[in-house]
Amino acid sequence: NTLDAQCKSKPQKQVCKTVLKHFDAQYSEELGEQWRSARVVLLNLLSWQYGVLLNRFSDLTNLKQCLTELGYTHLLPQTHSESHSQTAPIPLQCFIHRDPVRIPTQSHHPGWLKQYYLLNAASLLPVLSLNVKEGEHVLDLCAAPGGKSLAILQTATPGLLHCNEVDQHRHDWLLKTLESYVPPTLRHLLSVTHLDGRSIGSMQPGAYDKVLVDAPCSNDRSWLYTPDTHQGEMWLKERTQLPLLQKELLCSALTAVRPGGVVVYSTCTMSRAENQSVVEAVLASYQGVELLELEQHLIDSLSDHFCFAHVHPSVGQLVIPQKGKTWGPMYVSRLRRIY
Ligand code: SAM
Repeated sequence: NTLDAQCKSKPQKQVCKTVLKHFDAQYSEELGEQWRSARVVLLNLLSWQYGVLLNRFSDLTNLKQCLTELGYTHLLPQTHSESHSQTAPIPLQCFIHRDPVRIPTQSHHPGWLKQYYLLNAASLLPVLSLNVKEGEHVLDLCAAPGGKSLAILQTATPGLLHCNEVDQHRHDWLLKTLESYVPPTLRHLLSVTHLDGRSIGSMQPGAYDKVLVDAPCSNDRSWLYTPDTHQGEMWLKERTQLPLLQKELLCSALTAVRPGGVVVYSTCTMSRAENQSVVEAVLASYQGVELLELEQHLIDSLSDHFCFAHVHPSVGQLVIPQKGKTWGPMYVSRLRRIY
């Protein structure tokens, strides 16, 4: 059970100048000074970090001790049953390190459950905001490769977790992730489909207590390292099509959730057009939906590690990478269907 944490090897990737120029123009206008510091983090690959999400279904003997010895600490405050916290403890355990060290990924072995999943720790914010309770019926509309589906299962045992992914190759990847982390005794709680998420709402109206829309978006971290200029230009064109798809996915989610149920919309871009503007447009056009603020205790408990930026208009929360708080980008907004 010895883990060798390694400082990252020399990064090979090159920044795509076309995408950077585009980001400079857009994000200076939308984020001002905060873009300057986010830019420094995004351009320094050596500062990129990974959180270690533990798999509660696996054998964790010695793992926590190894991580602690390597200098890892808990992302979330650990609530003990004897404490007088007013909020229920979150069983999810994610370890982070103050330095950009990385432990190796574990390989897939049939019949064996992986102990941890590496992810950008800010990816947990949408899952924590969804706040799934035991027995709830949950839809993860855009689920591959499955990081957030797994994280949901670390927070509670839903009555049903429907994981959907439209892309065939990514759907297969999702299946493999679930097989590597979820014990056979719990697989009956999972349903995995590869449908266009835009059709699920009308197929199953009001069927779910909670729906996560972790939308396809212009993932800022990976787009910045697009391999060549031509592809960079193509992606910038595709970027203009994304808000329509995102709105349609969010409307489908709102149809799929029961009255009183909650939908969380998230992206890993800082782009206003794919974040606040999508949520605002849906709130304006979809009857019987209200915006829910993220719970303040959740924001407070993560503020030591995440930088929450001010967003305009103020719908949702945006985590932006800054020196010393390099997690994100991650945008999260919570909506409730009233009727
Ligand atoms: N939630 C995933 C996780 O945490 O591992 C990441 C999801 S990724 C940001 C968005 C996913 O949406 C991609 O895998 C993409 O193929 C999928 N997608 C794109 N269009 C879709 C659609 N119309 N319906 C369902 N999924 C879609």
